[in-house]
Amino acid sequence: MAKVLNPFQIAQAQLDEAAKYLGLDEATHEILRWPMREFWFTIPVRMDDGKVKVFHGFRVQHNDARGPCKGGIRFAANETIDTVRALAMWMTWKCAVVDIPLGGGKGGCVVDPAQLSEGEKERLCRGWVDRIWKNIGPLADVPAPDVGTTKQMMGWMMDEYCRLAGRFVPNVITGKPVGACGSQGRTEATGFGVIFTIREAMKALNMRSADCVAAIQGFGNVGQYAAIGFKKFLGGNVACVSCWDYKDKTAYTYSHPDGVDAELLQTITDQYGTIDKEKAEALGYIVEPGDAWISKDVDVLIPAALEGQINADTVNRISPRVKLIAEAANGPTTTEADRVLQERGIYVIPDFLANAGGVTVSYFEQVQGTYNFYWDLEEVQKRLDDKMTSAFWAVHKMHEEKKVYTRLAAYLVSVKRVVEAMKLRGWV
Ligand code: NAD
Repeated sequence: MAKVLNPFQIAQAQLDEAAKYLGLDEATHEILRWPMREFWFTIPVRMDDGKVKVFHGFRVQHNDARGPCKGGIRFAANETIDTVRALAMWMTWKCAVVDIPLGGGKGGCVVDPAQLSEGEKERLCRGWVDRIWKNIGPLADVPAPDVGTTKQMMGWMMDEYCRLAGRFVPNVITGKPVGACGSQGRTEATGFGVIFTIREAMKALNMRSADCVAAIQGFGNVGQYAAIGFKKFLGGNVACVSCWDYKDKTAYTYSHPDGVDAELLQTITDQYGTIDKEKAEALGYIVEPGDAWISKDVDVLIPAALEGQINADTVNRISPRVKLIAEAANGPTTTEADRVLQERGIYVIPDFLANAGGVTVSYFEQVQGTYNFYWDLEEVQKRLDDKMTSAFWAVHKMHEEKKVYTRLAAYLVSVKRVVEAMKLRGWV
């Protein structure tokens, strides 16, 4: 039986392939294979019933050769240090591929946020910052929201940091609410960024976007705006979206004979990206099992939920019509499935390129906070589009020139940029 790799081993194996191709020396390769440093901590939180519960938190800083570490904080019941390490490494490549002057980091906490009251959530967020505040900061490491964390939580975390530091430091964290030093367009950034890369890939593949249909897994922050953007920017149709249902403890796929109306579905979706099943059925949506999205007869698949969803079990269910997969989620494809996608000639926009829109607008948020001068939505979206478009073509050009798979091409672009900074700084 094939050995199942954990996310960090997958991230290391992907890097190893790029390192071999680039002929990296041993020291450079070894630095990149491991986090620069990592923090593990416990967070005691007074719960609403008066008892203290202890949560486990992490922050991993992978590489800061190109700038301060940058990456989200995930609140998830199954969070592990190896997931956080993998995601921190992928952040290094993500910031490099869109050519923003930041490195890679990631944080986490082992908790199901849906089980906490608002007060408990706020105390946990403040506790997370209390434990790590001396090791993060605008010139060291800048967290942001990710799975299970929200704008409001970023607002509490910024406030706690400012309280501890004794001064106003909005740039310690991004993804804050607009009105509390957040940026216009941050909420939509990742999903719309995915769509900008799909638009460019369609040009490269001679696909007519208005004739294309997509199936999306996930209807959280990324899935919602990918679904909205697929219609708004490309004129295409969304056949289905899927989500986890906390009440029924299972996932469902929602499709509609006229296509998904993502803006309408948003009005019946909670803050965790769960669609209200009864209300969706009343609107004429067909409800199927959670994995139905992957076998839909569509042109484009957009996994926008969890890691490992396109795997040895599911990859052969992908319809022959699928030409393009945009990895909106982090690590949605396992190594075995990746091989099958390559053999079938499906064009994959790899995760750290496809979903780099979020960190790009986070970077814009930092720039605006530093200048204390905020841009309008149009300016943010124009700059996001420019960054995503040039990142896509840098990777596509590498893919064509070197005749390598797009994932390796993205690695080659990013790793080269990081290694150049390491060399220029005299690390190796
Ligand atoms: P989210 O928590 O807002 O939404 C996740 C969605 O996935 C929800 O709709 C949830 O119901 C659904 N889901 C969970 N389990 C599922 C299952 N088994 N089947 C189908 N759907 C399921 O998270 P998000 O912010 O949208 O992030 C989604 C992915 O994108 C993650 O991999 C995340 O790391 C990545 N990502 C997010 C951002 C960002 O800015 N939010 C940026 C880059 C990458």
